Amino acid sequence: MFDGLVQRLAAIVGPDHVTTAPGDLSNYQYDGSADSALPQVVVMPGSAEEVTAIVSACTAAGCPYVARGAGTGLSGGAVAEAGGAVIAMARLNRILEIDCANRLAIVEPGVVNAHISDAVRAHGLQFVPDPSSQAVCTIGGNLAENSGGLHCLAYGVTSHHVLGCEIVTPDGELVWLGGRAYDAPGYDLLGVFIGSEGTLGIATKVVVKLMPLQEDRRTLLAAFPTVEQASGAVSAIIASGIIPAALEMMDQLSTKAVEAYVNAGFPTDAGAVVIVELEGLRGTLEELVQDVQRICIAHGSREVRQARDEAERERIWLGRKSAFGAMGRLGSSYYVQDGVIPRTKLPEVVSEVAAIAERYGLLIANVFHAGDGNLHPLIVFDERTPGDYERTVAAGADILRACVRHGGSISGEHGIGIEKRDCMTLQFKAADLDLMARLRAAFNPRGLCNPGKLFPTSRRCGESARTVARGALAPEMVDAAGPAF
Ligand SMILES: Cc1cc2nc3c(=O)[nH]c(=O)nc-3n(C[C@H](O)[C@H](O)[C@H](O)COP(=O)(O)OP(=O)(O)OC[C@H]3O[C@@H](n4cnc5c(N)ncnc54)[C@H](O)[C@@H]3O)c2cc1C
Repeated sequence: MFDGLVQRLAAIVGPDHVTTAPGDLSNYQYDGSADSALPQVVVMPGSAEEVTAIVSACTAAGCPYVARGAGTGLSGGAVAEAGGAVIAMARLNRILEIDCANRLAIVEPGVVNAHISDAVRAHGLQFVPDPSSQAVCTIGGNLAENSGGLHCLAYGVTSHHVLGCEIVTPDGELVWLGGRAYDAPGYDLLGVFIGSEGTLGIATKVVVKLMPLQEDRRTLLAAFPTVEQASGAVSAIIASGIIPAALEMMDQLSTKAVEAYVNAGFPTDAGAVVIVELEGLRGTLEELVQDVQRICIAHGSREVRQARDEAERERIWLGRKSAFGAMGRLGSSYYVQDGVIPRTKLPEVVSEVAAIAERYGLLIANVFHAGDGNLHPLIVFDERTPGDYERTVAAGADILRACVRHGGSISGEHGIGIEKRDCMTLQFKAADLDLMARLRAAFNPRGLCNPGKLFPTSRRCGESARTVARGALAPEMVDAAGPAF
């Protein structure tokens, strides 16, 4: 079927690192989104040179391929919708260099996000971007999605913490974008690559910045009667000139689910809670704590609690990080939406989300990276009820429409992938999309590198686009030259 491709891949990586066994392939059909598709082969390279040879072999065979990190992506990015090869990066998991003097590390793409900070903590350093999935997600996936995290408000997202990367281009060339120092001359191809969702090539080494651990930090939990009051406090904190390291919000449905799940100590009778984390030099935080407390109380908070010790802080963050998982307490399935709005629009958009929930008869819990105006409505549905999934997708699309109408964007951090490609037209004109397509073609002329992602199909935003089987891509979405099985 592959015209000898599987044998060629086995010759590159060794037979133990290639599989076509149905039981193995099924492990690679999903990411964290609702889409799934079976690849035809999974190959696990052990070096950048092997990735180069794999890409060249796939290209020669006209076989589509997609890089895969940990598969925690929430937009279908690592799903092999066109079939073909999944290139699983898990073996490329070495931290190659830690350079404390220059505050950088060079890592392979399969390194788990949290493992970088674990490796440099003893030097008083950290890798800042911290997606809630950081215990398992990889740097390759973070780079491809330009991932954010709980502490990205003050310090920036992945693109602000990457100096360079080595990639294998779809032409099978190994090239460096950026490097060990700031501001490489010429076009900012590193900036183009970061956030390109695996459609422009495969990263094989990443130079990440390391930042010093702060001397002191304080974590506050403020309870508010309503989401609107909590939103007002969020805007007022930033407007006062304070930039917390993290500024998160959860509504009552979320806090109730989390309490039932991990018992984080959230007040379940509050309409919303806000978590504020302040960091800085020892002796500088007390005044900021008082300012935040004053602002929260002025906006109706009835209780602002400061974590007394590290254990209490960790419990609060465990609660926030468990919010997605806790949805299992509310229903059999959930769908995470991800939109951004100017943070001052939070109250209006939250009211619209509530109206959308009512209109579609669905339960929607809300967690927010509130400081960034990044919403994560969690739509609870039952897979077994006919039409429930379709209503959920339609409700999600209405939320995105509200975000765009209020001057925001259809994705804050989870990417477009399969899930939101048909909603790109909400935000971009044909000319914008055409420019993006020409950029993709410059890197990926045959369209074999992660085909079908990011660009709209003939469906409308909000029409269920769930992929259930390999080969489901419309022919026009893969270059005429491939796939050729
Ligand atoms: C519970 C939960 C919480 C989450 N919290 C957050 C959060 O707070 N913030 C956030 O931003 N995201 C969050 N996510 C989403 C997800 O974890 C991130 O998008 C993450 O960066 C994906 O990493 P991964 O290794 O799992 O990548 P995958 O899911 O395996 O792949 C994601 C994309 O990256 C591409 N890719 C992977 N490796 C490479 C490579 N080496 N070169 C080129 N492309 C590559 C894939 O082709 C795919 O398009 C969360 C997900 C879950 C399940």
